[in-house]
Amino acid sequence: MDYVYVIPIKKVPFVNGETFDGVYVGSTSKDPKIRFEQHKGRKDFQKKKGKSGSRVVKLFGPESDPEETYKVPKNIKKEEYEQNIANNYVEKEYYVWSGADAYRNHYECKKCKKTIYLGITQKKAHVVWKCTNEDDPCTSDDVDEIKKLLKSKRGIKRGSI
Ligand SMILES: [Zn+2]
Repeated sequence: MDYVYVIPIKKVPFVNGETFDGVYVGSTSKDPKIRFEQHKGRKDFQKKKGKSGSRVVKLFGPESDPEETYKVPKNIKKEEYEQNIANNYVEKEYYVWSGADAYRNHYECKKCKKTIYLGITQKKAHVVWKCTNEDDPCTSDDVDEIKKLLKSKRGIKRGSI
């Protein structure tokens, strides 16, 4: 069984000191409660290989389990259903944060034409966008560009930033 889950995130800082409240939308084939513990970076739940945490959930999500989970219907891929749920929240005017997968066919960076997704910086912890170029990823903390990413529907080709 696949699930899409929605976790509230609060007071996430932009580089200019402004903050926003919104939701993190993700999908998993695991128990969403276990996925949540992984996002929070809790030891007993870490995967042996690969990254499973999400800094935005770890730093700006609630301490206890997310309450909203949706079962993915059998005839739909979980990534597609994740985009659908994310888009429902965008329509309700939430700021919506998704895992990198949900941003496929969304905005791309001007320089290398790679998909753009959101991250949190290591030091002062504010939002940046990054591109998926593994060798030399582009990054920016431009507040207007990031708001555009948070507020626009996934899965629709939109050009570059
Ligand atoms: Zn790039």
